[in-house]
Amino acid sequence: MTDIYDRQIKVFGERAQKRLGNSLVLVLGCGALGNLVANNLTRAGVDLRIVDRDLVESSNLHRTLFRLEDEGRSKVEALDEILSKGSISDIEPVFEDFNRFTWKTITKDVDLIVDCLDSMSSRYLLNEVSVKQEIPFIHGSAIRGEGRIKFFDGKNECFMCLYPRVPEPGSLETCRGSGVLNYTTSVVSSIQSSMALNYLADFGVVNRDLVVVDLKEGRFKTIGVRRKEDCDVCQKQKFEIMEGKEDIIVEETCEGYNVVPKNASVDLKKISSTYNGNYNELFTSFAFSGRDIILFENGRMQVNADNAKEARSIYSKIVGL
Ligand SMILES: [Zn+2]
Repeated sequence: MTDIYDRQIKVFGERAQKRLGNSLVLVLGCGALGNLVANNLTRAGVDLRIVDRDLVESSNLHRTLFRLEDEGRSKVEALDEILSKGSISDIEPVFEDFNRFTWKTITKDVDLIVDCLDSMSSRYLLNEVSVKQEIPFIHGSAIRGEGRIKFFDGKNECFMCLYPRVPEPGSLETCRGSGVLNYTTSVVSSIQSSMALNYLADFGVVNRDLVVVDLKEGRFKTIGVRRKEDCDVCQKQKFEIMEGKEDIIVEETCEGYNVVPKNASVDLKKISSTYNGNYNELFTSFAFSGRDIILFENGRMQVNADNAKEARSIYSKIVGL
């Protein structure tokens, strides 16, 4: 057991290894990037909180550590089980949506956040949290053979300086629509891991430029990012997403729409039997008005509606809020 970190202590040194052992990192999103980043960090001796709201699908398998038998399980539960067999660090799995009702609990006491999210709206929220709480985060995204990585320290230029306009829902490419290759997520997650470990261990350099990789063309480049003088978040300290007032969030995702109430207690078993759903302790899934619905125990609903209004209306009919 004592030899676990031998090869990396030869590079980092004993003191850096202690720093890693005393760190808590939040891995936000447990798709391909989250799987691979969490694998690197936990095996390097870092304690983790891993957070994801989704279930394992067979289309995840080509780029993750998940196994055929994990299909339909929560991603965090399956990943925790897999990683715990190869590491002695603590892993705290949290099956939860990251939103303005949950960010405080999810980011409590973390030293660093690794952005392995798949939704831009969650990233803008993460950016607000990073700036307000001065928690650094490492952005990563991967699509086809292309990837982008950027370290934000929470005190200087922010994600909004880099991408100042919140994109229109549906205007962005997603893995689901455009596809992604496993070597892309491997490279992006490795660069994210290198930044995380260098930062935590105070080893070498943490590149603050935007790193852009195009693995189809075999090209790598770095682009300097300046702070925007009129940035709403890091300059004007406006935290519009965090401070939103509505009690229900409706946001577009790869799967359609995600409807999240601030407070809701749903009788999952009862709703499941009303709609003839497939029930387990985490969620129930069923069809309603020709739409596929997954309703979770905390009242969150995933629905493949055409637009936000329809998603909200279906939610109201089923949950009553
Ligand atoms: Zn900014």
